[in-house]
Amino acid sequence: MIRVGVNGYGTIGKRVADAVALQPDMELVGVAKTSPNAEAAAARQRGYGLYAPADYADRFERVPLDGTLEDLVESVDAVVDTTPSGIGAQNRPFYEEHDTPAVFQGGEGADVAEMSFVASETYEEAQNSETARVVSCNTTGLSRVLGPLDREYGVERARATLVRRGGDATQPNRGPINDSMPDPPAVPSHHGPDVQEVLPEVDVDTMAVKVPTTLMHLHAVNVSLESEPAAEAAAALLDEHPRVELVPGEAGVEGCAHLREAADDRGRPRGDVWENCIWDESVTVRDADLYFFLAIHQESDVVPENVDAIRALAGDADAAESVARTNEALGVGLDLLPEERQVEAGAD
Ligand code: NAD
Repeated sequence: MIRVGVNGYGTIGKRVADAVALQPDMELVGVAKTSPNAEAAAARQRGYGLYAPADYADRFERVPLDGTLEDLVESVDAVVDTTPSGIGAQNRPFYEEHDTPAVFQGGEGADVAEMSFVASETYEEAQNSETARVVSCNTTGLSRVLGPLDREYGVERARATLVRRGGDATQPNRGPINDSMPDPPAVPSHHGPDVQEVLPEVDVDTMAVKVPTTLMHLHAVNVSLESEPAAEAAAALLDEHPRVELVPGEAGVEGCAHLREAADDRGRPRGDVWENCIWDESVTVRDADLYFFLAIHQESDVVPENVDAIRALAGDADAAESVARTNEALGVGLDLLPEERQVEAGAD
């Protein structure tokens, strides 16, 4: 069993904790929080150990703690740092002092860890590391599609326009409420260079716009390829990725709200969409230029990646085994159309 602690129990941390608790080869020892709020109560109700950094322990006077963050970090095989951007870098020396392998998040700079992690691209590199940074939701989504395209057809240059959600539903201070804003107005946005932390050989430019929605990001992607595939072949290649899903026209999924609803309808926790979804009809090839729309659920596509990053740092599964185990435990795969009826040979 890989014993795991999660430091920071917000949007990403609570999802990672739940995903770890579902893995057959992992034990969630506990989560660390800085305030005894409703989320701390939820962690307790789920039966998770509750810890706090020593400086914050007195805030928990009326809530029983299982120990300090130090106790947690000392007793686990790996820690996942899901604190707000910038705090992870401050925490790194603390994990090092305790010789505890650590997984950081995409809000941190690339230098917070030895390597940038996307399971299908850099798992083996993480196996030789003590620290890994699971890249941001957007970088994860772009890496999942550009890696296979580069290997199969060669990517001459990729360009993506990111239509970004203004904030998560739990971020009332974010926006815009009534605007569409270049974010940033300069080109490229930070996402392209971040993809190159995972896929250094892929030439990619990104532009980003933020809009008033909390649901998901939507990318318009254009990839100039070195060899020209048929659109159907490119779509099939993208669909082969274990965390990319094609959205068939017949599914009636018109946008990101329908994708979240599809996840809710399938009983997914919090309506999470772990897969990056590509509208089948959008996959178009013109003179070796490939186009498609790619949807990214910002709060959850990094969750299975965190689970795999833990295995890469502290377990012995290879990449394929880890991805399969994580996907099986979570139930990755939206299956947006009813299964076709199997007609037995000889039947009418
Ligand atoms: P969040 O604010 O929702 O959660 C952070 C948690 O850490 C909160 O529970 C907070 O109380 C706690 N915390 C604050 N200061 C702390 C400290 N000093 N020590 C321990 N805990 C502390 O943040 P989030 O959205 O979950 O983001 C966490 C990381 O994941 C960031 O690097 C972010 O960039 C990255 N990320 C976020 C998203 C997203 O859409 N929210 C997507 C991908 C990656």
